Amino acid sequence: MSDRVLVNADLKFVQDVMKAGGGDLNKCYQCSTCTVACPLTPEGAPFPRKEMISAQWGIKDKLIKNMDPWLCFHCNDCQDQCPRGAKPGDVMAAIRNMVIAEISVPSFISKATASLSGSIGLLLIPMIIIAAVIFAVKEPNLAEGQIIFSRMLPVTFIDLIFVPTALFALFTGFLSIKKLIGGLKEAYPPGPDGEPLGEALINVLKDIMTHKDFKECGINAPRNIAHMALFYGMIGLAITTACVVVIHYGNLFFGWFGYDTPLPFFHPVKLLGNISALAAVTGIFLIAGRRMTSDIIGNTVFFEWMLITDILLIIVTGILAQVIRVAGIYPLAYIVYYCHLVFVFFLFAYAPHSKMGHMFYRTAALVYSRYSGRSKSVGVNLLEMTKQELPEKT
Ligand code: SF4
Ligand code: SF4
Repeated sequence: MSDRVLVNADLKFVQDVMKAGGGDLNKCYQCSTCTVACPLTPEGAPFPRKEMISAQWGIKDKLIKNMDPWLCFHCNDCQDQCPRGAKPGDVMAAIRNMVIAEISVPSFISKATASLSGSIGLLLIPMIIIAAVIFAVKEPNLAEGQIIFSRMLPVTFIDLIFVPTALFALFTGFLSIKKLIGGLKEAYPPGPDGEPLGEALINVLKDIMTHKDFKECGINAPRNIAHMALFYGMIGLAITTACVVVIHYGNLFFGWFGYDTPLPFFHPVKLLGNISALAAVTGIFLIAGRRMTSDIIGNTVFFEWMLITDILLIIVTGILAQVIRVAGIYPLAYIVYYCHLVFVFFLFAYAPHSKMGHMFYRTAALVYSRYSGRSKSVGVNLLEMTKQELPEKT
């Protein structure tokens, strides 16, 4: 006689996964071709077939604690081979989006970032805060004299807005990662095959810097170049911002540099910023172009579009603000700079709740994967984890 299994199905979760990009989930008939095709799955408890059935059955609690959606890099080799068009790569991406919605704290922000109306609501917060500070501190005669952005919003007040914003993102990000790792720990207790934590961290950082996992992709290999351009462009922009802060405060408090911001066009930091912006924009256009024209990319939902749109808006308004300022066009330069600050706030404040969060969650999960030994094939059977004792039949 076969075992009886009680499954706590969450049908709303099934609908949510379908809305989050896994719309073809129910076409899956469990043939396992996808699992054979996947270049990244470990041998023990391989994916994505088991995630397909878990998502169809709405086994939400276990999927939230499942490591494997984070080991998937959405290369779509499985999707290409699926005989039913069930799009397993998209389902894995949708599960990741759902996990971000579940673990991020507070969760209402991540729910808002998944829709246009919610994102507009979130955008209103920096619009109001930044406008209120500008009207409180701006020089009264902005129309006269040179256009200097600090006349509208002094750097000290920018810091008073953005330092608490960064702290909010760090704090909520920390809580969310703690929740993610807590779930993974329950499902994958550290085993004898695991690497020491420091070694796991270094190996994951090496893999990320070289995009090792992206390079395993078969049909979707060009995505590696696009993602790398965006990734290194963003790192360059982050370094540029850090240098600008050091130059400004180093000069203000210690007289280190003998000059202040804005920096001249050929200053090395300015050049780094402009080259990084160019790399990031190139990456964004390659990603967007492929999403719109290639059949093998699969579904892209608003949540995913929002990240590259916001980064693009930050870069475009940042460059335009420089150009319009030099051209002396008042008040357009100030308006564009204000928009730039609003988009930057949106990216940083909501990073743990948006698609941007995948950078940190995936990194944390990959480190834990090596630490626990999952990367060396120690896996769990989601359905086994779901079995519950049933009373004996009478
Ligand atoms: S997703 Fe497609 S390939 Fe994978 S088990 Fe289902 S039907 Fe088969
Ligand atoms: S999208 Fe790629 S990495 Fe993800 S399950 Fe499919 S084949 Fe594996």
